[in-house]
Amino acid sequence: MAGIRLDIVTAEHLVFSEDVDLVVAPGIDGEMAILPHHAPLMTMLQPGELLVRQEGKEFSLAVTGGFLEVRPDRVTVLADAAERAEDIDAARAEEAKLRAQERLAGRLDEADHARVEAALRRSLIRLRVAEKRRRRRTGPQSAQ
Ligand code: ATP
Repeated sequence: MAGIRLDIVTAEHLVFSEDVDLVVAPGIDGEMAILPHHAPLMTMLQPGELLVRQEGKEFSLAVTGGFLEVRPDRVTVLADAAERAEDIDAARAEEAKLRAQERLAGRLDEADHARVEAALRRSLIRLRVAEKRRRRRTGPQSAQ
């Protein structure tokens, strides 16, 4: 039986709202595993992978930062951006990565440098989450 409601919301839309068994979130101080009846808390998120276990299956979303609120029966993620692995456009993320890498190779002031590094980080997370899904779907036999 699924035991905790997970809502993932961005300014644009409701990305996910279902009962799940476990959430592992990229908290600002490190990965946090949240099971039903977890103590209430609020924390910031860093860009990373949000892993969900639901009815024995695991899947991931890419989140690019935001806030996480835990209540005993509910986890709410207010994300800057969040994409389910299947919604990630890997080609777009690859382009964003190359664009950021090119810019980082040139001269940038401090503010631009931080902005471009953040863009690079977002692209790498998206690529990682999309790749993980691809591997899960194709299975170990295709790793030869
Ligand atoms: P890009 O340079 O490709 O726009 P970005 O990191 O600047 O990437 P964000 O500002 O984080 O993009 O997100 C803007 C919107 O686009 C959000 O709704 C986000 O979910 C979506 N988005 C960004 N990149 C991707 C992607 N590779 N696949 C699917 N959705 C994406």
